[in-house]
Amino acid sequence: MRLSLYSIWILLAATASIAQNQSNSAKPPYKDSSVPVERRVQDLLGRMTLQEKVAMLSGADWMSTVANERLGIPSIKMADGPLGIRSWAGPSAKTSAEVAKNKVTTTSFPAGVAMAATWDTDMVQSEGQAIGQEVKAVGRDMILGPTVNINRTPLWGRNFEGYGEDPYLTSRLGVAYIKGVQGEGVIATVKHFDANNQEFERHRVNVVVDDRALHEIYFPAFKAAVQEAGVWSVMSAYNKVNGTYCAENPFLLKDVLQGGWDFKGFVVSDWGSTYSTVGTVNAGMDLEMPGGQRAEDWLKEPRSQKAGNGGGWLVPEKVLAEVSAGKISTATIDDNVGRILRIIFVSGQFDKPNVATNDIDTPAQRAVARKASTESIVLLKNAGGLLPLDASKIHSVAVIGPSAAIARTGGGGSSLVTPKYSVSPLKGIQARAGQNVKVSYALGVAMQGEDASTDTDEKRMQLQKEAVEAAAKADAAIVVVGRSTKLESEDFDIASLDLPTGQDGLIEAVAKANKNTVVVINAGGPVIMSRWIDGVPAIVDMWYPGQEGGNAIADILFGEANPSGKLPVSFVKRWEDSPAYGNYPGKNLQIDYAEGIYVGYRYFDKKKIEPLFPFGYGLSYTKFDYSDLKISPEKVSAGQTVEVSLQVRNSGSRAGAEVVELYVHDGHSSVDRPVQELKGFRRVELAPGESKAVHFTLDQNAMAYYSAGKKEWVTEPGEFDVWVGSSSRDIRVKGSFVEGEAGSSRASSLNQPSPVVR
Ligand code: BGC
Repeated sequence: MRLSLYSIWILLAATASIAQNQSNSAKPPYKDSSVPVERRVQDLLGRMTLQEKVAMLSGADWMSTVANERLGIPSIKMADGPLGIRSWAGPSAKTSAEVAKNKVTTTSFPAGVAMAATWDTDMVQSEGQAIGQEVKAVGRDMILGPTVNINRTPLWGRNFEGYGEDPYLTSRLGVAYIKGVQGEGVIATVKHFDANNQEFERHRVNVVVDDRALHEIYFPAFKAAVQEAGVWSVMSAYNKVNGTYCAENPFLLKDVLQGGWDFKGFVVSDWGSTYSTVGTVNAGMDLEMPGGQRAEDWLKEPRSQKAGNGGGWLVPEKVLAEVSAGKISTATIDDNVGRILRIIFVSGQFDKPNVATNDIDTPAQRAVARKASTESIVLLKNAGGLLPLDASKIHSVAVIGPSAAIARTGGGGSSLVTPKYSVSPLKGIQARAGQNVKVSYALGVAMQGEDASTDTDEKRMQLQKEAVEAAAKADAAIVVVGRSTKLESEDFDIASLDLPTGQDGLIEAVAKANKNTVVVINAGGPVIMSRWIDGVPAIVDMWYPGQEGGNAIADILFGEANPSGKLPVSFVKRWEDSPAYGNYPGKNLQIDYAEGIYVGYRYFDKKKIEPLFPFGYGLSYTKFDYSDLKISPEKVSAGQTVEVSLQVRNSGSRAGAEVVELYVHDGHSSVDRPVQELKGFRRVELAPGESKAVHFTLDQNAMAYYSAGKKEWVTEPGEFDVWVGSSSRDIRVKGSFVEGEAGSSRASSLNQPSPVVR
């Protein structure tokens, strides 16, 4: 039906007057919290004019949606995440000038990759809860997180935000985060849908990726967010997938998200990622952000234009014109607006808008940040048991390096949180060392790009000399190296996997001067270690640790805590070994995911490439023994679950936690499958000598692969091996079961109903 502008005007006027009359009567159903949500949505939609509906499709400003005073629809006020609440001050936050005057400081949690290194879903849920509380405390309703994009290439500038290279681990942690946030009545936003795996030309690049890789690698965390956590919002990504921008991609949004997974919440665009009106609205992209004058001004800035940002397509004039031209139906508008309204009701924000409280940086939230940071630290090398430092032998330590005295809490960009305080490694070590250990400090080398005055060979030599002298005088040297927010950030990819200028040389020189040298890595992912790895006895990865990083690393170095982190990403020996090497950053704005499903360890296993440190790897100060693997039943019929159990014992003399990893190997498949895939993990705390039973239940998800031809998940009958171990390359116990019946389990049978409407 084609509507003229006049008829739209008549329609608007008529609905407005009906709505006016209705507002005079008793409490309307949509205002009654005892009425089922779907009825409230329909009732409210019935009272809204087309104009009012369309007004809700684009933001009011940088970080909030348009409110409707007449009907009492509140604005959804957002906050950036996912690693805490982003500081409101500073040009990039662009929230409101008024808030920016009083910079808001909040708890800074470890980066996503560090949270993933804990493999601790309870911990991530507590983090989500703390973040939910802080969102409310700053008077907002929605957090723009978690980030669940997969680490396809170690050079992606945003790897630190997400949960690593494995879709199963990423799914479990994303679900935990969302449950924590939404349990507080705060809207979580799983982002960025989909295949947003590089910053280079992120606004223009077309990702060419096959269906199987999408379903097995790049979709699972989003699907789990929808089906298991009932996530209320999904953010579409900047890039194109197979030729179409994510914000106007009917395959992604209509077929997969809404149709396949039954998503009932709303899709929000990434900031400045829309390029059309009709395509975007019809694809099911419900809310364009940012909006208002602020968005208009921003889009005109040369920087935005150069970057390729798009926006201003869902403003009322443009959408109404397309409705009147018959290119967008009023049913579509109802569906899109209805999704936003549904979440305002479901989250409780209609009935009880979030009001600011004082729940910021509480002792409980700080404790989560500290525990998370401690659990995330990965002990990569510990030759001769140098760590933990023995206070009876080590009476002095030299703390050295460009990241020693500065707390580098996170990577750069929209996830960076400004905490009330942060603890640098040096501060943490000084506090932990106490009276008996003398702590000296030397910069050693300035962080690349941070201080032009130190950027000469002469100055570098002098700084390095001072560091070597300090190291030579001490019983042990701790060199803290890594990247900064200027080298690892949203907006650009990492220039090189090598450590920044001068840091390799510093480590080599210090290690020569002190045989007890510990290298601490403070970065969002792998760095190349070939120049010095054999010359240093101990290496520890502290990632970007949030505000409590200094305390956490000191606890680990001095043995107050036992390291238990495991790598959520494989560390390569050299960039050329990476799965994406050769297909990154693309040509002519096109990036071919030629490696398909072979991402991360799936690639190293298949190609038989030795990584520097494998996926799931991490040492402890104690030892764990695995035994008694039991699998039942041995023969399974299609659809039946498999129970796996084993004993894990702490056979060392210190208390510690072990992450037990379960991988499934399908040796009989008719299609090419990864050598092994992570399908379960448990974190177990064990006292010295203690033994615990560890259980897993495997369902069809653990056996199936995605058949692009059949467009469904398929489990083939035959033998499946179950490998349980301490890392993907340290399997300790093996067993198997037989899937008996010919079972082709359709995708839908692997789906669960969406719990979005409770
Ligand atoms: C980022 C998003 C972020 C948004 C709002 C975008 O540039 O990609 O992750 O939530 O900005 O700050």
